Parts: sequence; C-alpha cells; structure tokens
Amino acid sequence: MSAEGEGEGVSGGGEGEGEEVSGGERDFGTGERPGSSALRGAGRVPRERPEWAAGVRPGHRPLLPVVTADAVAREESARTAERLAARSRERPGDQWPEHVRALRERAAHIRRETLDDLESHLGALTARVTEHGGTVHRAATAADATAVVRRIAAEHGARLVVKSKSMVAEEIGLNPALEADGIEVVETDLGEYIVQLGDERPAHIIAPAAHLSRADVARRFDALAGAEQAQRPRDHSASALAGFARARLRADFRRADMGVTGVNFAVAETGTLALVTNEGNADMVTSQPRVHVAVMTPEKVVPRLADLGVLLPLLSHAGAGQRATVYQTLLNGPRRDGEADGPDALHLVIVDNGRHRILGTKYEDVLACIRCGACQTACPVFRTLGGGHAYGSVYGGPVGAVLAPLLDEHPGDAELPYLSSLCGACADVCPVRIPLPDMLVDLRADHAASRRGPAAAAWHAWSVLWSSRAGYLASLAGTAVAARALPRRALAALPAARRWARGRTLPDLRAAGRLRRAVRRTAGRGSRAARHRDLP
Ligand code: SF4
Repeated sequence: MSAEGEGEGVSGGGEGEGEEVSGGERDFGTGERPGSSALRGAGRVPRERPEWAAGVRPGHRPLLPVVTADAVAREESARTAERLAARSRERPGDQWPEHVRALRERAAHIRRETLDDLESHLGALTARVTEHGGTVHRAATAADATAVVRRIAAEHGARLVVKSKSMVAEEIGLNPALEADGIEVVETDLGEYIVQLGDERPAHIIAPAAHLSRADVARRFDALAGAEQAQRPRDHSASALAGFARARLRADFRRADMGVTGVNFAVAETGTLALVTNEGNADMVTSQPRVHVAVMTPEKVVPRLADLGVLLPLLSHAGAGQRATVYQTLLNGPRRDGEADGPDALHLVIVDNGRHRILGTKYEDVLACIRCGACQTACPVFRTLGGGHAYGSVYGGPVGAVLAPLLDEHPGDAELPYLSSLCGACADVCPVRIPLPDMLVDLRADHAASRRGPAAAAWHAWSVLWSSRAGYLASLAGTAVAARALPRRALAALPAARRWARGRTLPDLRAAGRLRRAVRRTAGRGSRAARHRDLP
C-alpha cells in the first residue's frame, strides 16, 4: 500500500498510453532492448541519493552517512513531519474512536491466536492454495526464497517483472537478484516507482516516497522523459505527474511476463490471498502477466475469511486514516477455464528468514504486526528523520527497531533499539497492541548483556557512576570543567571517537547540568506556587 499520491491513483484513463521512449537505455548484458518503457531512460535519471540508498542486500549495507540535518532543514520535509505529527496527535493514549476500539481488541486477539498455532494454519493455507491450482513453496532463508523466484522466472522465460509493493521482497533483496539475471523489475505503486527511479530503497512501510516533494518527483519524471518534450508531464501538478506515471506503467502491465506482490493477509480457511492498495496496481500485477508470484512471511496467515472483516479496516485506519483502502483484492488461485483474466500460474512463496527463532520468545508479539506503518509515523524520531533511510533497516520505525535486531541481518541493527525516546507513542497507535517500548527496553538489556570489550567496560563504569547521586553530580561538574579546558572539537579529533563524531554535533558540554538546574528551579517555583494556592 502506498500512500504517496493517494487519491490521485494511477488507475484510470491517461494520455500517451504505450508511448515509446528512446535513448538512454540500460544494457543488461543480454544484447536485448529493455522491454520496459518505465526503465528506458532511467540511466539519465540523476542519482540524487548516495550509494548506500541503493544497497543491494541489507546484510551488505555500508555504514550510513548522517542525513538528518539535510532532511530536517528541507522545507518540504518539515511540512510532511507536521502533517504526520498532527495525525498522531489525533490518537493520544488509548483514545481510539469508539467504532475502531472493538476492532482493535479483536484484531489483537486474532493475531495472537494465529501465532499460537502458526504451523497448522500454514498447513491449511498450503492445502487450500494447492486445491485452487496454485503452488506453494517454503523457503527458510532469503537466499532460498530468491532462488525459488528466479527459478520460476526462468521457467516462464520472464524478461519483465511488474511488482506491487512488497516489504518482504525488499527484505530478501529480490529486485537485485532478478536484475542479476537480466530481468527488468518495475515497481508499480506510485511511491515505489518514484523511489525506484532515484535508485533508492523505500524508507517507509507505507508512503515510501513521503520524504520527497512534488518538485523532486517532477525532476525524476522529467529526467526519465529525457529530451522528448512531448513525453514529459505537461506540468508539475499532482494530476499531471500521476498521469505520466499511469501512461508508462500501463505499457509495462501490458508487456510484463510475471507479476510479484506481497501478501497483506493469507486466509488459512479458504486459501485466499488478500492485497490492499489505493491505486489498483496490485489488481493489474496479479491479472495481466502470465505468472503471479506472491511472497509472504509465515505470520501473514490468518485463520478465517471473517478475520479480514476485522483486519482490513483496521489496517486502513491505522495506516492511512481511511475507512477502507480504495482497492481490496482477494485472490483464489490462478485463472480458471472460462475466466476472462488472471495468471496461468500462481506461486506462493512463504519465506521464514529468521521468524521461527522469534516464535515462543518474549519478542513473539512483534510477529503480530500487520505492517500498517502507524508506529513509524507516530514516532518522533523516525518521523523527523525520514524513515528507514536514516538507519538503513528495511523495516523502519519502532517495529523495525525491534524486528531488525531479531532477524540479525546486519551487525549495526543491534543498536536500533537505542534510537528511541521510549515515549510510548508507537504502542498507543499500534492497532494490534504490540508493546513496542517494552521490547525496545528488553532488546537494550539483551544487547548490553552480550557486549564485551572496552566499550562495554566504559558503559558499565558510566552506569555505576550514575547509579549514585554523588557520582552523577560529580560527573556533571567534571564534564563542565573539562569542557572549558578542552578545545570544542577535541573529542572529534580522538582516533577512537572520530568515526562516531562524524556528522554529529556535540552539545555544549560547558552547560552540563543546566537542564537539571532549570528543571529544579521550575519545580521549586511550581511547588512554591502550589503551597501559596493551598493557603487558606
Ligand atoms: S508494530 Fe503495530 S503500529 Fe507498527 S507497523 Fe506493526 S501493526 Fe502497525
């Protein structure tokens, strides 16, 4: 589900359908012309994002540079942050709208019930999908899953793949794996399409292009159209930009050999795959190409068809503030005889990639997540920093800060739980009641317990020092004195601290303790005022 361009939709009429675009074609080493009009000319799209944004596999990401200052300083980003802040203010604490509160309780129950007996639900799902004529594959790792999809693509001679946003495909590095085989992959959610043109990875679970302004989008589309004035968006209005994307994507839907989607929910009782979008692109991806490959993680299964009546509206409400998404697609196998459209073959790939290790632990609840993205938009940290881009995890936000260390794909992910003020906003907005702040604290404790070496000793010493009032006050006084004696950038010059300090601005340590003193003064005034108020 992409909220970028919501309401504008890329379905519906549009001029320039099937236009040919010349020049700037990418050579995939196959000697063939790329069949995708969406990617023709992509070589001319300026790389506005650094290399790290296009990292091939999460496990191989280089360290991230700091983008915070830029992101916050941009006028467009600030507006987005304000809009998101306003949304999360609508749901402070437990003040959910009455009509949604009951859904929330029921959904939380359904998700736990599913996790309690996950394997038997997956067994039922497999049996039903197979009865409908689909093929189910189980993959233990990301590499297994990409190998399955590559094999399916090869068996069907796929040259062009259209995708509807799938976070798990992102997690397993599916796009680069297919591209390595000379297959073009075109993202078809408008937001995903926009970030793909910039060679970026999605930064948000929903609204993947929320960090880009309309001007950014226009620049990318103009660059894609190249010198052909007639093929550029007629102006930079939202409708013209959506029309441009619509025309190009329609050509791709027509030509694609294979469609790849995620799965919002898979119903064990009926073998139904449920997909929600606001643009209708999932319907095109699952009905136009000859082959449909759906990729999901095991916990996406739900026991009964009736559960969708609870989970789908809740997902829409929590994710985008909608009563329902514009499109809700329920798929039951490939096209049958006499049906007008649909794929000849449907493959369901269930990839575990570390989930089984989480089941039965104190972190099991995180598997109840329905990927609504609400925790990410409520979190002051991730809202300000522009999503997963700031830290590089595939799943951004508080849920990513919990899930990424548990999946254990990148050493740096272990520190993600520290990037939270523990304000609790994520737990307030979570539609399935996942206690994210508690998990963040537990993960910190686990990480601290596993730490060895000088850094661990230093943190331990700090903990002991701050465990006593005298030690705490002494450290403040010592810091203030040392900060006056040392040059401002002394810390950044130390070999060990240089990398840490790069891109960070140290606070003025000469003011150490100032906040505490100010709080005490304010508290003192408050209590004096209260005493006066209480006087007869
Ligand atoms: S943890 Fe909760 S709020 Fe966050 S994405 Fe998952 S379901 Fe939504």
